[in-house]
Amino acid sequence: MIPESFIEEVLSRTDIVQVIGRYVKLQHKGSNWMACCPFHKEKTPSFAVNPSKQFFKCFGCGEHGTAITFLMKFKGLSFPEAIKELADDLGMEVPEDRQAKIRQARAKTLTDYLAQAADFYHQTLFHDRHAIEYLKGRGITEETVNKFQLGLSPDAWQGLEAIFKDKAYDDPKLEESGLVIAKDGHRYDRFRSRVMYPIRNPRGQVIGFGARTMAPGEEPKYLNSPETPVYHKSQELYGLYEARDAIHKKGRAIVCEGYMDVIQMSQGGFLETVAALGTSITPEHVKKLFQLSDHVYFSFDGDAAGFKAARRAMESTLSIITDTQTAHFVLLPQDEDPDSLIKSQGPEAFEAQLRSAFPLSKFFVMDIVREVSQGQGLRTAEERAQAVAIAKPLLQRMTAHALRQLLVQEFAAAVRMEPAEVASLCGVTLLDVPQTKPAKALSGYGRDTKQGERSKRPVRPVTTGPVFTNIKRRLLQCFVTHPSWLIKYSDQIEYEMLDTVDEWEEAIVRLWHLAQDHSKGEGFEESKLTTGYLLSFMQGDPLYNRLADLASEEEVLQTPEAVAEFEIKCAFLKLEKAQLDAQIAELLSMEERGEPVESQYLERLFKRRQDIHRSLIDESSQAVDFVLDSRLSG
Ligand SMILES: [Zn+2]
Repeated sequence: MIPESFIEEVLSRTDIVQVIGRYVKLQHKGSNWMACCPFHKEKTPSFAVNPSKQFFKCFGCGEHGTAITFLMKFKGLSFPEAIKELADDLGMEVPEDRQAKIRQARAKTLTDYLAQAADFYHQTLFHDRHAIEYLKGRGITEETVNKFQLGLSPDAWQGLEAIFKDKAYDDPKLEESGLVIAKDGHRYDRFRSRVMYPIRNPRGQVIGFGARTMAPGEEPKYLNSPETPVYHKSQELYGLYEARDAIHKKGRAIVCEGYMDVIQMSQGGFLETVAALGTSITPEHVKKLFQLSDHVYFSFDGDAAGFKAARRAMESTLSIITDTQTAHFVLLPQDEDPDSLIKSQGPEAFEAQLRSAFPLSKFFVMDIVREVSQGQGLRTAEERAQAVAIAKPLLQRMTAHALRQLLVQEFAAAVRMEPAEVASLCGVTLLDVPQTKPAKALSGYGRDTKQGERSKRPVRPVTTGPVFTNIKRRLLQCFVTHPSWLIKYSDQIEYEMLDTVDEWEEAIVRLWHLAQDHSKGEGFEESKLTTGYLLSFMQGDPLYNRLADLASEEEVLQTPEAVAEFEIKCAFLKLEKAQLDAQIAELLSMEERGEPVESQYLERLFKRRQDIHRSLIDESSQAVDFVLDSRLSG
């Protein structure tokens, strides 16, 4: 764990122009820096880096984010890895505890050993006619052998002694790396006479091996490195390092079942292919993939094992995917794998499979129905109930609300229920269902707690609904693009939103807390509170994508600062006015029922309402008036 204060310091000293400039040739143009986009192919620059917001955006493909997200997407790094890289560039040393240092030093020798072994296996392959014939027989070219550094482990018990001389073969670290097995006082190579597939991490270091036998009938067919301090199979994807550039360029990632699929697909032109390593797809895998691309295709063989693997991939995807991302599922025809399909019918055949792949929502419904009814379709009420029971935990783990809504709708049609019924049975809320949070206490600049106490009754939140959603969405956008206003309009936020009534207010309050925390720090300068700085602290948060999208949209809108600030002032006035209207309506109806109402208090509310009314002169405020007036009279 990197201490939060260190992250803060790194981010406040980071300049996005310098960070991106290391990888992309930037040219100064107006207040921005421009370049040809590294995330899509183009001839004229549409990739803009905005130093004052510390935010980048491509006007061609829409890619956008902070210095951190740039490193994560461009280099496939995790958040801590990206922070480490920024710190390295600033000449700062990440303060890690002693244990982490030891772990790192040890990992360094482990990856050194593994890299040496990979080289050795690779060389060995070229001296073995049998292995070369074997690979040729499977249609693998020399170019591919070199690209993936394929190798051969010698047919010997201590083959690695050839490179680990002078007692290095006895080094316990060699055992720790998974290359050597120690048993009953003997040491011997784990991998013998197998085709070796080095597994690399996103930084390109060899961290383990997959190994396939060449002898027909020998078990196990595949042998993998064990879990080691540097290799965790639930997190690593085979081919990710090699596929990274292609994933950026093509804007999609393809996940296949095994090493051979990745290699054959790469040869067939699908360079954007990766595979899990002898395990099913985990949420960590999916997270890594979505860091690199918003569109992921999972390809599985169309047999029972393939369906099972696809279900696991779907489960892992549901908990990670956001509303702006897509996942597709390909189930190949019976008895075909990507290799056989491409060999017999060409790459077009696989491209056609991708085009007709099931989107997540369709696959979700199909797979559950298939499980319950064994392909017969849901026939009885019991089967439909069983389907709902399977769907429930899956829907509950989702954080992408719009996508979940879509899934519920598709699923409801399949089980012949209303979406609202499915939602309530599964314990999830649909987006348009009115929320039943308690209303705010009577407020307003003429706040009167005594009267407030007396008129305490459940009032529906008055600042929800489409008009207010637009207002608050815009507020959030203005705050994301001008984070220093979170401090300037602190009173209004505290007053209007602390008792949040919807997701928009929640988002604004989250940002407000974040800005508050940072502005209290010693030596805080308001100029440091940029869009990129603030967003960097939201990395990995479900809210991140929404905020980054709003910031990206604003890069197109380019609202002048004065106009944006005017919008903020108006928005708060409109929100306050809506509260006042509700209070006034409430008091008037109390009066009608003959309940005691303090007339002075009511007058103050009217007066304040009138003041606000005068201040709101633009068209949009009249539109709000119209809606509210019709609501009050109706
Ligand atoms: Zn682009």
